[in-house]
Amino acid sequence: MGQGELRGVVALDGPSGTGKSTVARRLAVALGAAYLDTGAMYRAVTLAVLRAGVDQEDGAAVLRCAEGADLRIGTDPTAADVRLGDEDVAAEIRGPEVTGAVSAVSAVPKVRELLVAAQRRIISEARGRLGGIVVEGRDIGTVVVPDAALKVYLTASADARAARRTAQDAAAGRDSTVDATLADVERRDRLDSTRAASPLRPAVDAVEVDTTDLDVDGVLAHLLDLVDDRDLSTAAPR
Ligand code: C5P
Repeated sequence: MGQGELRGVVALDGPSGTGKSTVARRLAVALGAAYLDTGAMYRAVTLAVLRAGVDQEDGAAVLRCAEGADLRIGTDPTAADVRLGDEDVAAEIRGPEVTGAVSAVSAVPKVRELLVAAQRRIISEARGRLGGIVVEGRDIGTVVVPDAALKVYLTASADARAARRTAQDAAAGRDSTVDATLADVERRDRLDSTRAASPLRPAVDAVEVDTTDLDVDGVLAHLLDLVDDRDLSTAAPR
């Protein structure tokens, strides 16, 4: 594969429903870069924990489960490839059971250490291959890649985020209501931003982008401008 147009790492953080995944994928495609969905990694480990019947509050047991999980994640922005061993779990990790348990699992410090180390290996391999990668999550700019070339923190009102999540669920054939999704979005925000290990917060040098009144194209255009401003793309000026 040839070199892409992005040089370095774009870190995209923020709470759920801000449009991170859609925008991150499209940004990676536009820049010929790799893409890493770190939330999918926490979700896949959570699925392994649930299947093992392990108590999510038992940190040691959760860690053993995480260590034993044969987690494989792709970095192609056009294909969501998440596996446990050979099993494709990309759809199952988006279901309500995993969504309900993932914040507890991702609050275990040793699980985070394990996954952050794996994320750094994947990022380094992708950079060697393509030159650039877009990485989305909650702690990319603060912990995983503190020297990222560009850090963006996406926000949106809780109502807008719940509406987007509900639309995504409907498109994927999952039952949900805006009220239930709003409650879940607010619950996860609270858990993710108050946990002791790597809480959700913007890096001091992150650019904050409020997506409440922007569509995906609007957010994407804004991010491409930031990439251009920092001279991170070898593409001809747009
Ligand atoms: O992004 P997504 O909603 O799939 O993330 C699922 C959960 O994984 C988050 O609510 C959070 O608890 C956890 N997560 C995290 N750190 C990341 C990415 C996700 O703690 N870098």
